[in-house]
Amino acid sequence: MARYIGPVCRLCRREGMKLYLKGERCHGEKCAIEKRNFIPGQHGKARAKKIVGYGLQLREKQKVRRVYGVLERQFRNTYEKAAHAKGITGENLMSALERRLDSVIYRMGFGVSRSQARQVVRHGHIEVNGRKCDIPSAVVKIGDVVSVRERSRNNPTILAARDATAHAPAPNWIDVDREALKGRIQGLPKRDELVQIQLNEQLIVELYSK
Ligand code: SF4
Repeated sequence: MARYIGPVCRLCRREGMKLYLKGERCHGEKCAIEKRNFIPGQHGKARAKKIVGYGLQLREKQKVRRVYGVLERQFRNTYEKAAHAKGITGENLMSALERRLDSVIYRMGFGVSRSQARQVVRHGHIEVNGRKCDIPSAVVKIGDVVSVRERSRNNPTILAARDATAHAPAPNWIDVDREALKGRIQGLPKRDELVQIQLNEQLIVELYSK
């Protein structure tokens, strides 16, 4: 599946907030939001227009897509599945995005950002329930055991990410054993434990249900 490969700090600047797409850099003074917090492009510094209605809904959808690194078609498909599942559509959508394998690896601390975690998955370092899985969009379910494969246990990228994220606690819905480089999915993500930023998924539901 295709992915966005352009400059990511631009995405944060477009949304006017940190989306935490780059790992350590996002917490330092080199963060573009700290240095140039205005919309990129020639007219970026012009007086900001007030965003209302459709604009608000669109920005919220773009924000969520960018946080999880999902392009429009795949995002729409995830939304359609969430809308047809039992429960509240917005919560189903966020839960499905959060349970993507790349996001789970990031949450377990084996990647410093979702994009690095995606690469860890794509390069075949991960297995789910003992079987190799290199599909970043695979959605894990309760009871699944996600681990770094035996032959990748000394992978420097994974070990460096584990050390760099040692201070960040794993979410309650994943029982992580950092030393063993594995974790078990023991529940569904709770809405208040999701992404680090303020999101209103209800606006996305309103956008797509027009
Ligand atoms: Fe770049 Fe991270 Fe700052 Fe976003 S939060 S602008 S990705 S450094």
